Amino acid sequence: MSPALIVLIALAGAFFVLIAFMILRALLTKPIEVQRGEYQPIKVNKERIAKKLSQAVQIPTLTVLDESMSYQPFLDFHNFLEKAFPKIHSIAQRTIINNYSLIYKIEGTDPSLKPGCFLAHQDVVPAPPEGWEVHPFSGAIKDGYVYGRGSQDMKGQMIAALEAMEILLENNFKPRRTIYFCFGHDEEFTGKEGAKNIASYLEKNNIQMEFVLDEGGTVLDGSIIGVKGMLALIGTCEKGYVDIQLKAKKPGGHASTPFKRNAVDLLSEAVYDVAITPMKRKWSTPAKDMMKAIAPNMKFLYKFLFVNRDILSPLLKWALGIANPVTDSLLKTTFAPTQLKGADAPNVLPPEATATINCRINIGESSEKVLNHIKKVVGKNIEVSVLPGKNEPSPVSDIISDAYKTLTKTINEVFEDFLPAPYPFIAATDAKFYYNVSNNVYRFTPFLMSEDDRTRIHAINERQEINGLVKATQFFARFIENSCG
Ligand SMILES: [Zn+2]
Repeated sequence: MSPALIVLIALAGAFFVLIAFMILRALLTKPIEVQRGEYQPIKVNKERIAKKLSQAVQIPTLTVLDESMSYQPFLDFHNFLEKAFPKIHSIAQRTIINNYSLIYKIEGTDPSLKPGCFLAHQDVVPAPPEGWEVHPFSGAIKDGYVYGRGSQDMKGQMIAALEAMEILLENNFKPRRTIYFCFGHDEEFTGKEGAKNIASYLEKNNIQMEFVLDEGGTVLDGSIIGVKGMLALIGTCEKGYVDIQLKAKKPGGHASTPFKRNAVDLLSEAVYDVAITPMKRKWSTPAKDMMKAIAPNMKFLYKFLFVNRDILSPLLKWALGIANPVTDSLLKTTFAPTQLKGADAPNVLPPEATATINCRINIGESSEKVLNHIKKVVGKNIEVSVLPGKNEPSPVSDIISDAYKTLTKTINEVFEDFLPAPYPFIAATDAKFYYNVSNNVYRFTPFLMSEDDRTRIHAINERQEINGLVKATQFFARFIENSCG
């Protein structure tokens, strides 16, 4: 036998051993048995909660962006909360932060326990009535839904959490752990007037939370990744955010005598170069944890790939990257060109052209790394600068904490076919401000929504299904009992 043949046979042997090992590994990975305790959902009055959400939607708490806008709706909203949740208001200590943000504190019976904290934001994004089936601030109740701006994002979640607390108090529930509800008033802009001030108030008063739970995460149909049932994704961190401006400068002139490589040409090249030169896909800790949590429940082929992630990493990164924009965004810093500006008139070559690239920074990277990458890609002819309002990626909360375990246990109890899994939340929430007051900051939105309903968030005909609202209330009640009872 020639030495070459021996090497070939040895290589083939090693290859088959490796494949056999990978198959065995996948075969031995079994779903974890879910331990469900005795669970009786609390009784929620459907009409009552639908009416409360409807009333909440009718108060147009638009994020105040400039002096032309009014804060009055926030004061109206505070009055509404007082009337809608009398039990909470009779026992909670209410603190108003920066005039319009709210903290409610419900004292627990055991002062040795750190408090639990529920977040929501009062503000909503604008909703010009064009294209809506009903007026966006009518709060119309029809076909089993409450319609209107904020019904999903995020007055639905706020009303569900408060209604859960209200019902528990009506049933004479006394929390052992102190409970906070913190509601900012400018999450849809930056959160810097509301949530940031609430968090620094808590920090100054040495209040450390056992957990903080905010909106975010999502409930997805698991079939997109070979899982039967629904994935209940819990954001354990959030990606960073930075807007980067590209600017090209060249002498302007009349558009009838254009010269090559003018400011618009240069800028267009730069935007194109950024689009075709992404940053590398990387497995952040939460992305790895997510795959670890989901893999045991996958169909065999998917399970084979994900259980052997360490060996098949390049292939998987590529496959997740091309599969769809969501899975792609879980693994990398994304660049989205969102604003372009050239001349003010159609017949002018502008002396200056600018583009804004909205970047969502992967966990483990930084705005500085992103800036350096873009500078390298666009070259010296383009000025690159960071626009105000950046946030670095948040720290990552761990998934071995009691709070995380209680959260997943509650999800399993309330939503029977949900598979909870941690993941890096790809958008931004108020929760990012709370890492100084808790190591356990999680984002979860306990609503099963159709793809159709999901696309209505921040868009026309936003609506919240009333059955989903009831279920979310039962979820919050159970989570309060499990974590604070
Ligand atoms: Zn929101």
